[in-house]
Amino acid sequence: MTSSLTNVTVIGAGTMGNGIAHVFAMKNYTVVLCDISEAALERAIATIGKNLDRMVAKEKISDEDKIAALANITTNTDLASAVSEADLVVEAATENVDLKLNIFRKMDEHAPDDAILATNTSSISITKIAAVTKRPAQVIGMHFMNPVPVMKLVEVIRGYSTSDVTLDMVMEASKDLGKIPTEVNDYPGFVANRILMPMINEAIISLHEGVAGVEEIDTVMQLGMAHPMGPLQLADFIGLDVCLSIMNVLYDGFGNSKYAPSPLLVNMVSAGKLGRKSGEGFYKYEKGSKDIVVSDSFK
Ligand code: NAD
Repeated sequence: MTSSLTNVTVIGAGTMGNGIAHVFAMKNYTVVLCDISEAALERAIATIGKNLDRMVAKEKISDEDKIAALANITTNTDLASAVSEADLVVEAATENVDLKLNIFRKMDEHAPDDAILATNTSSISITKIAAVTKRPAQVIGMHFMNPVPVMKLVEVIRGYSTSDVTLDMVMEASKDLGKIPTEVNDYPGFVANRILMPMINEAIISLHEGVAGVEEIDTVMQLGMAHPMGPLQLADFIGLDVCLSIMNVLYDGFGNSKYAPSPLLVNMVSAGKLGRKSGEGFYKYEKGSKDIVVSDSFK
């Protein structure tokens, strides 16, 4: 660890939170992982253990590295005490504006005055989140990509009031994790989702209009554009509810009809077809099987 931020608290132990805790713990930061759900914390520690085992099996790290990384993480269900000694907090709780504003109010109250408060939000305004704290200069976006231990990018989002010092410290800590931080400004969707989500939405519109089927659309984008995964499969992986909520942020934020979510996407979310996490989206997912089969609705 070369960063001056040594104590890191991660709020939210879901998909992203466990990955973020994993990468900081691997670099010898002291990590407190906090969630309202004890079960989520247990699952997160089990997932981190499994992911570290995979790295040991591939001889990327030793058994001792794994043990040391796990020893760097403690868990806590009480936010106030979880942030009380933090130099940096990375919030990765559920994507919901009111929930995040409440968490930031609480973190502001209980974290040390000089702590940096970062959020991993995919789409919520950093400036809006910063405005509920008394330290807007120390609030910043730290947008990791999924899966965190594998993906190199951290989209670092500068809110309206974020200071140069905060930005520099977060860039340095991200580099220390072996990531490539990239600075962007705080506008709806930032850069990643402003470009990715309209592409996914356009793929869903193309499917809905009958331009091509699920596999055909994904094959064109995979083989033709060298994308590792087609846009419909990627939408399933991200979660269709997440895609819809990001499209709504773009639509509301820009007031431009080009960001209107596809009615098919809206319908699928209403029907509970959320992609991989619900077992079905554009494809069907069976537990224990890596095969993906097009959903009966699109055959
Ligand atoms: P998730 O649903 O897997 O996990 C969210 C966790 O937050 C849950 O364990 C939940 O119990 C916890 N939580 C809810 N309220 C809390 C509170 N008050 N205090 C502490 N914990 C609380 O969600 P996720 O996919 O990990 O997403 C987390 C954040 O990361 C969101 O802002 C999301 O937009 C962003 N993000 C997600 C992805 C992705 O691919 N999933 C990618 C980039 C960014």
